[in-house]
Amino acid sequence: MNYTEVESVCTYCGVGCDIVAQVDDNKIHKITADKDGYVSQGKLCIKGKYGFDFVDSKERIRKPRIAKHFLEKNPHIKAKIEDSLEPLDENWFTTDLQTAVNAAAMKLMEIRKSYGDESFCAIGGARTSCESAYLFQKFTRDSMNSPHVDNCARVCHSPSLKGMRATIGEGAATNPYNDIYEAEFILIIGSNTTEAHPIVANRIIDVARLHDNVAVIDVREIKMMKYAKHKAVIPHEANLLVLNMMAYVILKDELYNKKFVESRTKGFEEYKEKILNDPYANPEFFKQVPGYEYLATLIPIIAREYALKKSMIFWGLGVTEHIDGSYAVMAITHLALLTGNIGKTGAGLMPLRGQNNVQGACDMGCLPYYEPDYQKPKKVGLMTPQLVDAMLEGKIKALLNMGEDIAHIHPNQNKIDKALNELEFIMVQELFMTEIAKRADIVIGVKSAYEKEGVYVNAMRRLHLSQPIVKSDLPDDWEVIKMLDNAMGGNYDYKTSEDVWNEVREVAHRRFSGASYLRLKRHRKRGLQWPVYTEDTPVLHLLDFRTEDGLGKFVYHQYQLRGMIEELMNGGVESGYYLTTGRTLPHYNNAAQTIQSEKLNNRYDEDILLVSEVDADRFPNTEYVILRSQYGESAPLRVKFTEKIKPNTLFTTFHHAKSRINYLFGDASDELILTAAFKSIKVEVLPA
Ligand code: SF4
Repeated sequence: MNYTEVESVCTYCGVGCDIVAQVDDNKIHKITADKDGYVSQGKLCIKGKYGFDFVDSKERIRKPRIAKHFLEKNPHIKAKIEDSLEPLDENWFTTDLQTAVNAAAMKLMEIRKSYGDESFCAIGGARTSCESAYLFQKFTRDSMNSPHVDNCARVCHSPSLKGMRATIGEGAATNPYNDIYEAEFILIIGSNTTEAHPIVANRIIDVARLHDNVAVIDVREIKMMKYAKHKAVIPHEANLLVLNMMAYVILKDELYNKKFVESRTKGFEEYKEKILNDPYANPEFFKQVPGYEYLATLIPIIAREYALKKSMIFWGLGVTEHIDGSYAVMAITHLALLTGNIGKTGAGLMPLRGQNNVQGACDMGCLPYYEPDYQKPKKVGLMTPQLVDAMLEGKIKALLNMGEDIAHIHPNQNKIDKALNELEFIMVQELFMTEIAKRADIVIGVKSAYEKEGVYVNAMRRLHLSQPIVKSDLPDDWEVIKMLDNAMGGNYDYKTSEDVWNEVREVAHRRFSGASYLRLKRHRKRGLQWPVYTEDTPVLHLLDFRTEDGLGKFVYHQYQLRGMIEELMNGGVESGYYLTTGRTLPHYNNAAQTIQSEKLNNRYDEDILLVSEVDADRFPNTEYVILRSQYGESAPLRVKFTEKIKPNTLFTTFHHAKSRINYLFGDASDELILTAAFKSIKVEVLPA
C-alpha cells in the first residue's frame, strides 16, 4: 500500500524524538524514527513507536460535554442553551462547541462579578503546544485579570528552574544531547533514564560501553547501573548530602578550577568556608549510616573523576521531588561552577524534563511568578498547592484546566478532593475523560499533538514545529481559549497557530525572535535551540552566565538530618517503609494517552509495588497490599519482591488513577517552590 509520510515530533516525553508517520485514509498506520532527525537518531522507544492508537480511541471526547449537575445548579444558563443539548448518559449532555464555550463564558463572568477577578485560576499541562500555553496564560492574566496561572512543572521540574536560575540565571539544559559523545565523564543522579528518557539513555549507554565513564546515583538499583562504572545506591533524601560531599572533596583536594571560579563566579570564599566546616559534607559521615558505609569511599571517587574530567550531569525528578529539591539543584550547579564543567561543548548541566513541552510551558509564562520569557509579572499569583488551600478557603471559585490532571497526579488527593468540591465551576480541555474531567462542569475535547501544528521545546531547549499527521474537526486548545475570550467580550483575532507564535516571538523575543515557522520548517531535522536570533545557541553560558551581573553564584545550603538516614543512625528503621514513586517505560505521567493505547497499556496495566527480598519475612503474606501514610491510603497493589531494592524501601508507579498512589502524599514539598516530596514518604503496609 502507498502511504503518505508525515514528519513530526513524538507527543510523549521531553526527549522530543523526530518521527515519521505513515498515513492512509486519515489513519496512522505506523510510526518510525526519522533516521536523519537529530534527536531520535533512527530510534524510538515503545511509546513513540506504538503509542499512537490513542488518536482513534473510541474514548476520545468528540463533542463538548456539559454536566447535568451544572445545569441543575444553573437553570438560567440551561434555559438559554437547552435547545442544543443532547443527553449522553446519566451524568452528561453533549452540545456544540460554541454553545459550550458560551455557557462557560456566562458562568465565568458571573463568578468574576460575584467574587472578583482573582477568584479564577488556570492550571495547564505541558502536553500542549507553546501557542496554546502562551494564550492560556495571556487569557488568565489579561482577559480574566487574575495572576493565578500554573502548569504541571509544579509537580516535576520547578526546582530545576529555581535552582538553576538562582545560580546561573537560566533554568534549562546547557548543552545538546550529542555532547554526551564529547563528555569524558557523565554523572546521572535521580533519573531513571532508561525508563523515562530512553533515547537519551541510548546515547549514554553507547558511551558507557565504549569508555566506561558513567556514574549513577539513585535510591534504587536501576537499569542504567548495569552500564555504569560507579553505582551508588543511596538512602532516601540524601541527594543534597551526597552533592555537598562531592563539593567538599573537590575543595579539600584542591581540584577546583581556580581560574574559572575567580573569573566567572561570586560567593566562593563564603561557600568554601561553610562547606569545609560542615560535618555533614564530609563523606566520612556515611560510616555512621548502617548499610551505606561504602559511600564514604565511593562518593570521593566519583567527585574526583567528575572534577578532573570534562563532565556532564543529568538529573530528573529523583532530585527535584524532595523538600530540598531546589537546594539540591543548586548543589548540582555548584559542582559545575567549581570545576568549570559548564559553558563548553561536552560539559554541562542537563535537567531531563518530563513531558514533551514542560520547557516550553515555562518559557511561555505558565507560571505564577514569570510572564513569557521569564519576565516579572505585575502581580505574583499562587502556586498550585496554594491554590488548593485558597479553594478550601473559598477564595478561588473557578478553575480552567488544560491538559493537566490535578485530580490524579498532584499530592494530597484527599485534600484536593475537598477543594474541588468548593469550586463553583470547573472547565477542562482534554482528549479523554481524565479524573479532573470527570469532576468538571464543562469538558471540551481538543486536538491531540498528532492532529495539529505547533511549536514544542524539548529538554535540550530545541524548538520543533510539529506537523499535523492526521486531520481532526476538534479545536486546538488555543482556539478554545480564543473563543472563550471572544464570548466574554475580548478581541483575540488569531487565525492560525502561526499568528499566535508570531506574537510569542515579539513578546518573548529574548529567546524566540529568530524562530519563525519558515525557519523552523527549514531546520526540521536538527531543530533550533533557544535563544534563537540570527543563529541558534547549542551551548549556553559560553562567556558569561545569564544572571544580572553575568557571574555564577555560590549559595550554600546545609543538609538537614532527617527521615531514613536519621532512623538508620539511631538503630534502624523500626516500623514501616520508605516509599518512592516513579515512571515506567510504557506510560507517562497520568497516562492520559498511554492508558488509551492498547499496545502500551497491555504491557503495564496496573501499578506494581516493588519490595526488597530482604524484607519478605516481615511483609504481609498476601498477593496484594494497601499502603497507608499519615495522609491517606492507596488501593490494593500487587507485590513483587526484588533484589534491586534496598531493605526498608518500596517503589511503585503512579500511572493508574485507580491505584490512588497520590493519596499517600501530603503537604511536604520543596521549601522554595512547593513541588511535592513524591520521592520519599513513610508508609505502613497492610494486607489487602
Ligand atoms: Fe517519544 Fe520520549 Fe520515547 Fe523519544 S524517548 S520516542 S520522545 S517517548
